[in-house]
Amino acid sequence: MSAEDTRFGSGWISGVVSASLGILGFGAVACLHYPELLTTPNLREVYPLGFIRGLIHVALIIAFAFGVLSLILRRNKSLGGIGVTFTLLAALWGGSSVAIDGHVSKSDHIGLDFFILDLFVLALVFVPLERLYPKLGEQQLFRREWLTDLAYFFSSHIMVQVLMLLTLAPAAFFFRWAIDSPWQRAVASQTGWLQFLEMIVVSDFTAYWIHRLFHIVPFLWKFHAIHHSSTSMDWLAGSRLHIIDIVITRALAFAPLYALGFSSQPLAAYLVFVSFHAVFIHANVRFRFGKWKWVVGTPQFHHWHHSADAEGVDKNFAIHLPALDWLFGTMHLPEDRWPAAYGITGNPVPKGFTRQFTYPVR
Ligand SMILES: [Zn+2]
Ligand SMILES: [Zn+2]
Repeated sequence: MSAEDTRFGSGWISGVVSASLGILGFGAVACLHYPELLTTPNLREVYPLGFIRGLIHVALIIAFAFGVLSLILRRNKSLGGIGVTFTLLAALWGGSSVAIDGHVSKSDHIGLDFFILDLFVLALVFVPLERLYPKLGEQQLFRREWLTDLAYFFSSHIMVQVLMLLTLAPAAFFFRWAIDSPWQRAVASQTGWLQFLEMIVVSDFTAYWIHRLFHIVPFLWKFHAIHHSSTSMDWLAGSRLHIIDIVITRALAFAPLYALGFSSQPLAAYLVFVSFHAVFIHANVRFRFGKWKWVVGTPQFHHWHHSADAEGVDKNFAIHLPALDWLFGTMHLPEDRWPAAYGITGNPVPKGFTRQFTYPVR
């Protein structure tokens, strides 16, 4: 990609926008056709459907217009061609006005809507931020192995139902007896923001030690090494996590929250925050946060955790609270310095989603 002309006016930017919106728009129309199969019930309940339809409509118009623009400007017609083709297919399939007939019941599903929405929102936020304030200025949007990381992003969103069940199962199995206990009533009666902060402290404390074990125990490290195999840091890089890593970490970090009985609204706010924050700390942005960088996990803090230099190895295990690393003696946050390189020295992890999937058990 680096040899290619990607400047403004070359037709590359319009081509990328067209292909991305065309494919996402086509997926969104598929969600309207098969809501039971392709959409997430919890999200369905809160969708402002009129607004979503408008969004799909506008996305398809932009995808088509930018696709035509890219076809005119760019000698290589692939991006514009993909964008226009998917837009036309989406339009022929009914576009944004596909009717949803009758009652949509809860059933086994894959989270295609979650994938489309989350990718759309995160790209809208982070792609411009990483262009305007890059830490690694020379890094491309489609840097090395970006498709691998997109495959991770796709799979973890598509499997949202499976992941939720696996996350919840151990907590429910061990702590079902705690439901409606006196302490659960006391915890749930606190104000929302206090519950939110308590969840951060409790889950980050658990996650700190699980994370540290993943680094110490050789068998667990084989799973977690995949997350560390990325040599680029950006908003998509954090998605690279083996499913076993995701399930063990989430299930064990969630169990105490379940046992303590936090109420559903602060819990929802917590889940939205942690998923956004997890993307943010991997992002290729050079923001400094003054004194706040000692209070909450920032990109600089977590980038050091991914450092290939010895000084950053096995440091900064916390995700939200650097204080935990300070407390347990694993903090590394030099004033203004960032790691010179990312990844694992002598990286043993193979390339590609499928080979990485089987790597830990080979
Ligand atoms: Zn780690
Ligand atoms: Zn990470």
